[in-house]
Amino acid sequence: MDNQKERVKCLIIGSGPAGYTAAIYASRAGLKPVMYQGLQPGGQLTITNDVENYPGYPAGINGPQMMEDFRQQAARFGADIRYGIATSVDFSGKPHKVTIDEQKEIEADTVIIATGASAKWLGLESEARLNGSGVSACAVCDGFFYRGQEVAIVGAGDTACEEAHYLSNLCSKVYMIVRREEMRASIIMQNRVKHTPNIEILWNSVTDEILGEHGVEGVRLKNTVTGETREIAVKGFFVAIGHEPNSKIFQPYLQHDESGYLKTIPGTSKTNVDGVFACGDVQDNVYRQAVTAAGTGCMAALDAERYLASLEDY
Ligand code: NDP
Repeated sequence: MDNQKERVKCLIIGSGPAGYTAAIYASRAGLKPVMYQGLQPGGQLTITNDVENYPGYPAGINGPQMMEDFRQQAARFGADIRYGIATSVDFSGKPHKVTIDEQKEIEADTVIIATGASAKWLGLESEARLNGSGVSACAVCDGFFYRGQEVAIVGAGDTACEEAHYLSNLCSKVYMIVRREEMRASIIMQNRVKHTPNIEILWNSVTDEILGEHGVEGVRLKNTVTGETREIAVKGFFVAIGHEPNSKIFQPYLQHDESGYLKTIPGTSKTNVDGVFACGDVQDNVYRQAVTAAGTGCMAALDAERYLASLEDY
């Protein structure tokens, strides 16, 4: 059955706050949306601990629970939520064609892209080799394994600060590796790490190599000012240096910036291809918040509904 073609009015690719919000609105509007959840059902919030800034949750909520709430709300209105990954697209004609898991072809009158963004890596050989053996891009997922031990985290944005603070509650010591002499993170987050006794910030430091054969045993750091190298002994190495948009398969058809973020017509979710809309982090390199992703997911569903209504043969 999987090889059969299927025609849908509204296909949603991705299942973070943007995708689920689009699914809620599209299903309530009668578009019978089909959603493919992608590689990481629930998206980045499923690897987040407490979400304290999403309106409506006065006591905060953990990320996976929040995404389960989103999923249930979309399912309640009839969204058809499926496992599967969009592996290629053809936006050269109509209907739009999207291949799922390299085999099933979906023909869609409208496509809502909500594929989000993924963690960036430093690109060291040792980082790739030890990935899953002490190297991680998700403190909330893997910090537990290093409780009572010393760890390092690289990055100086809000994510790195948030994760360093999270790790400081589990680990005996957290080294924060910052490549400049200042941080990019918001002042409140910087102050939080600066005032945590078991976090030590290593300024002007870059990671030369992650040490260890079968598991992380340490990190060799280089000081960018003096050129000196030093080694620190750690059991876990966390990378928190930002994200890149999951837009590769769309780039041949859709306008995007130099980092790959899809371009939308300002004030809308419309891409340069009629009937294809983008929402959430895949098109937002500025705000990147759950609430803004949800807002643009709503816009995408409304734009899709209006687009369908405008088609003569609809
Ligand atoms: P950012 O892009 O903000 O920060 C990335 C950090 O990683 C920067 O400090 C950067 O250094 C550093 N970095 C990048 N590449 C390397 C490298 N090769 N080696 C060493 N360091 C590197 O990403 P974040 O994920 O932190 O945040 C993304 C967005 O999400 C931001 O807008 C942030 O405000 C938001 N956010 C908000 C939160 C909240 O409000 N609770 C929580 C988490 C994120 P440099 O500064 O030198 O470029």
